[in-house]
Amino acid sequence: MNKTLLANIDDPRSADLDFYEQNGGYESLRKALPMDPGVIIENVKNANLRGRGGAGFPTGMKWTFASGDPKFPKYLVCNADEGEPGTFKDRPILEKNPHILIEGMAISAHALKSDYGYIYLRGEYPDARVILEQAIDQAYEKKYLGDNVMGSGKKFHLSVHVGAGAYICGEETALIESLEGKKGQPRLKPPFPVSVGAWGLPTIVNNVETLSNLPLLIRIGPEQYAAIGSPECPGPKLYSVSGHVERPGVLELPMGTSLKEIIYEHCGGIKGGKTLKAVIPGGISTPVLPHDKIDCPMDFVNMPKHGSMLGSGAVIVMDESVCMVKVCLRAIKFFEHESCGKCTPCKDGTGWLRRILARIEQGEGHKDDIDLLVSIAGNIAGKTFCPLGDGTASVVQNFVKHFRAEFESHITGRGCPF
Ligand code: SF4
Repeated sequence: MNKTLLANIDDPRSADLDFYEQNGGYESLRKALPMDPGVIIENVKNANLRGRGGAGFPTGMKWTFASGDPKFPKYLVCNADEGEPGTFKDRPILEKNPHILIEGMAISAHALKSDYGYIYLRGEYPDARVILEQAIDQAYEKKYLGDNVMGSGKKFHLSVHVGAGAYICGEETALIESLEGKKGQPRLKPPFPVSVGAWGLPTIVNNVETLSNLPLLIRIGPEQYAAIGSPECPGPKLYSVSGHVERPGVLELPMGTSLKEIIYEHCGGIKGGKTLKAVIPGGISTPVLPHDKIDCPMDFVNMPKHGSMLGSGAVIVMDESVCMVKVCLRAIKFFEHESCGKCTPCKDGTGWLRRILARIEQGEGHKDDIDLLVSIAGNIAGKTFCPLGDGTASVVQNFVKHFRAEFESHITGRGCPF
């Protein structure tokens, strides 16, 4: 598969508009503008494009809900707030190929009849802000953005809004609250943002990678697009791989590439010739997989059948030297820190879990602590306002499920064996 999202990113000119145009950039927008918006949405549905932010919701269906709403204006928001530990897949697009995102947003805005767009950018990506704003200025100069996009009469204005470092603002309703200038906390759903979003108006929130797929989808058409990778959820996919591999980084591969192939073929195997112990396949909130369960296609449909989730495609690889209790503790510390405090099971439960895990890790655990962890996690799961609570519970449940003996040895041995 030829690279699209990361095409030419090793060239120092990759973020420049001239270079992007010389390599076919904005031709898909030129092709899309005369198309009926409904036809573009049908193409997205037929291509079976699914959101790349983590949930994997069908993009065409989300767009249909929004396009059917008579309220105007509608807002198109790009979620560029990638803050989940292990996830850095959108960063190369933002910093090295920003025009593919701008072109994708302009195409999407035409399909959705949206005149205004925002890129909600992770606050810890200051370089991306500068690069995106330069790219947006260039796109305005060449009339790819503005009151009359490419002479079509279509209006689309775009700007960058920088977040302030809260993980929860990656959740779309918290993101919208933050965009409106309020404290970033999730809203009750329904109503969903596609009908009541930013400033009470229909708002479509899509991930960077999702929107950056539009130029390819329009260029090759839905049939060819649907033939890339997994039949159930096709297209190119970015996987960010970190941890104990020889060659970590961001890979662009067909959706559904096996986790084993990613680690051993594309990333050169386990660093230093050591043995694989476990993998977190889709960002810290996705269920951990032991070393013998990694022969699974990395897509939204097949990963749940193998006991985990694709999530954002952030693969964290851990070798034999890693303490699973310590990793679990680090994950829960993160969730406790990032809990927005709106609902009690998450606000208090994350702290309880962290304290119990810390005493186990320090060799001061009680014999009932493992069951207590599982019980608390069970009382968080499904009882919180947003998915952060479920993610917290799932981390504890799955680390205990696969590595219970390690938790037990910390308690019986009065300390960490690693
Ligand atoms: Fe906030 Fe946690 Fe409740 Fe989500 S689950 S709304 S992060 S307190």
